[in-house]
Amino acid sequence: MYSDIIIIGGGASGLLAAIGAESILMKSDSTLSVTVLEKMPRVARKMMITGKGRCNFTNVKPWEEFSAHIRTKKNFLRPAFYNLSPESVIGLLEDAGLPCQVERGDRAFPVSHRASDVVDTLRGIATRWGARIEQNVEVKGISVNRSSKGDIFMIAASGSRSYSCRRLILSTGGLSYPGTGSTGDGYRFAEAFGHKITECFPSLTAMVPKGYKDASPEKNGHLDRSAPLSSIGKALCGIQLKNVSLTLSSGGNTIASEMGDMDFTDGGIEGPIGFSLSRDCVKSVRNGGKPSLSLDLKPAIEKDDLRERLRGLWKEIGKDPRSSKMPIPALTRVLLGKLMPRELIQGFLICNPEILKGRKGNERIDLDCLTDCLKGWAFPVEGYVGYERCVVTAGGVSTDEVLPKTMESRLQTGLHICGELLDIDCDTGGYNLQAAFSTGYLAGQSAAISLEKEDNG
Ligand SMILES: Cc1cc2nc3c(=O)[nH]c(=O)nc-3n(C[C@H](O)[C@H](O)[C@H](O)COP(=O)(O)OP(=O)(O)OC[C@H]3O[C@@H](n4cnc5c(N)ncnc54)[C@H](O)[C@@H]3O)c2cc1C
Repeated sequence: MYSDIIIIGGGASGLLAAIGAESILMKSDSTLSVTVLEKMPRVARKMMITGKGRCNFTNVKPWEEFSAHIRTKKNFLRPAFYNLSPESVIGLLEDAGLPCQVERGDRAFPVSHRASDVVDTLRGIATRWGARIEQNVEVKGISVNRSSKGDIFMIAASGSRSYSCRRLILSTGGLSYPGTGSTGDGYRFAEAFGHKITECFPSLTAMVPKGYKDASPEKNGHLDRSAPLSSIGKALCGIQLKNVSLTLSSGGNTIASEMGDMDFTDGGIEGPIGFSLSRDCVKSVRNGGKPSLSLDLKPAIEKDDLRERLRGLWKEIGKDPRSSKMPIPALTRVLLGKLMPRELIQGFLICNPEILKGRKGNERIDLDCLTDCLKGWAFPVEGYVGYERCVVTAGGVSTDEVLPKTMESRLQTGLHICGELLDIDCDTGGYNLQAAFSTGYLAGQSAAISLEKEDNG
C-alpha cells in the first residue's frame, strides 16, 4: 500500500503528527494521503494510563519556566514548543468539544478527568481531518529505494504487509511500560539510518533503598518492581508523606534536593519529589556510584529548635500520669505520634534503632539522635525500578542529528523523528506529553509542507 506520509506509532506524538500533517494538507485541499501504523489493537495505550488515568496532558507555564523542567538539551524543543504551545493543545481539544481545566502547578487535565476522552478526541480529529489509522500493524523493518525523483521508504510489517511512502515519521516512543506497545523498536529503525542513540535508562521511577527488598539488584542496579518486600519494605510500603524534603547525594556531595510529597511504594521511594530525584539517582547507580537519600521529616524547623521542642515534649509526656508506668519504647512511640503519621512509626524505629539506647528494661531515648534521624533519615540506594514501571525513558535518538525546526533527520531526507524516541525527557507535570505533542505536530507539518513544495516544483 502506498501513502504519501506514513507515521509509525500511534501514540501521543504519532497522533499529533497526523493532525499536524492534515492541518497543512486541509488548507490546500490536497489529495496527499497520511497513514498511521500502530502495532497495538488501539492507538495511544500509554496515554490511557497517564496521570493515573486522568491524563495531565500539558503544563501551561511560559517557555522560560517550562524549559526548566526539560532534562536534556532544552533549546532543541523551543521551535516545536512555540509552533504548538500548551495553550494551542488546549485549544485543539476544546475546539473538538473536550473541555479542559488547569489545576495546581499549571497542570492541564480534561474536565472529565478521563484520559480516554483525550485519546478519543485526538484520534477523532486525526481521522476527521483525513488521516487513516491502521491498528494491529507492527512495523518490522524499513528500507529505502533511492531514485533521482526522491527516496521512497519501503516498510515491512506484520502479516506480510508492506507499505511505501515519500515521507516517513518515526513516533514509536521509548521503552517504558512495554505492555502499552512502546518496546523501543524505533531505536533500531533510527540506528539503521545511521542515527546515534544516546544511552537509554529509566527515569521518573522508584529508587530502591538498601534492605527494602528481599532480593538483590542486577549488575546495572535494576531491581524489578515485583521483587518481594523485606520487613522494612513491608513496614513502609503504602505510606505517603506530605511537605517533606529529600536530598540526593553521592560520595559526600549533594546532587539535588526537593521539597514536597513522596511515597513509599512496592517499588521503593517515589511520588513527586522521589521522581524528581530519580533521574540523577538512576544515573549514579548505573555509573557504579553509591547514592544516598536523606529524608527530612521536619524541613520547616531548624535542627536546634527541633531538639528543644523534643526535650519539651519528652518532659510533658513524662509528667503525664497516663504514661507513668510505660516503658521507654512505648513512651517513644507516644512522642513520635506527635511528630509523624502513626503508620510511619514502626518503619522509622526499625530503620533507626540507635534512637533507643541500652538493654531491655534499662532503655533510654537519645533525643539528639532522634533529632538527627528526623532531620536526616538516611536511605542508601541500591537499585531502581526499570522500564516495567518507570514513567519515561531518558536517552534516545540524539537531537544533534535532528533539525529542531522540522524534526527532519540530518542524515536521511524525508525522515522525521519525534516524541519520546528522541533524547528528550522532562519532569512530571504534563511536560512529557507536551514535548511529544509539539515535536509530533511539527514533524507532521514539516513533512506535509516539504511534500507540497516538492510536488509544486
Ligand atoms: C504510567 C505513566 C504515566 C504518565 N503520565 C504522564 C502525564 O500525566 N503527563 C505527561 O506529560 N506524561 C506522562 N507520561 C509520559 C507520556 O505518556 C509519554 O512521554 C508519551 O506518551 C510519549 O509519547 P510518544 O508518542 O513518544 O510514545 P508513546 O505514547 O509510547 O507511543 C508510541 C506508540 O508507538 C507504537 N509502536 C511502537 N513500536 C511500533 C512498531 N514497530 N510498529 C507500529 N507501532 C509501534 C506503540 O504501540 C505506541 O502506541 C506517563 C507515562 C507513563 C508510563
